[in-house]
Amino acid sequence: MRIRVLMGPPGVGKGTVASRLADKLNSRHLSTGDLLREAIAQGTELGIEAGSRMSKGELVPDGLMVALVEDQFDRHGGLDFLLDGFPRTALQARLLDAGLAARGTRVDAVIGMEAPERVVLQRLGGRRICGSCGASFHTAFIPPRTEGVCDRCGGVLVRRPDDRDEAIVRRLAVYRSQMDELEPYYRSRGVYFPVDASGTPEQTEANVLTALERG
Ligand code: AMP
Repeated sequence: MRIRVLMGPPGVGKGTVASRLADKLNSRHLSTGDLLREAIAQGTELGIEAGSRMSKGELVPDGLMVALVEDQFDRHGGLDFLLDGFPRTALQARLLDAGLAARGTRVDAVIGMEAPERVVLQRLGGRRICGSCGASFHTAFIPPRTEGVCDRCGGVLVRRPDDRDEAIVRRLAVYRSQMDELEPYYRSRGVYFPVDASGTPEQTEANVLTALERG
């Protein structure tokens, strides 16, 4: 079980790159944000607990997140994983390490996706997701074939509730403060690789692959 992590601010393109790369890396794309959005849509206990925090741009409690991810490891035992949006706090990183050690493995590489704040804000502002299947588009950079309609399933494209301006400001602030601990944590383990994510999805994907090969 190889574990690779995509880390970076909201809107930097973690989900876009992860969905393009998962097949190439023979890995399962595990997006904690997508799992939470599914739980909200299904109205589960987790969804109810997570929903109001997410729409305000706050993090969901560490214990819930670690249990959610470990459950995925157990359901798909032995597969390689590309983690998108997890870990997001130093405690999650430590608990992830402990959970992986118990399964005889560890984090292979953490890719730190970097882009200037103005680029991230542009990406978040134009982001639209499919209300049915969760596929992600951008009004200018990754437009669907028909405006407002999902290419994959024909569902309606909507703006995520946490892509509102107040929630974006909060999410960026939360991200910065958590990275103050997370980046040194992984750097000190020799598995942190910063990557330029300011270009096109193709360029970013190539940069990530190069970093993974070097790592
Ligand atoms: P994302 O789709 O990765 O941008 O995540 C959307 C939202 O889900 C975040 O703003 C958090 O509220 C919540 N979330 C996703 N992953 C985590 C995590 N690892 N820890 C805490 N909250 C999370």
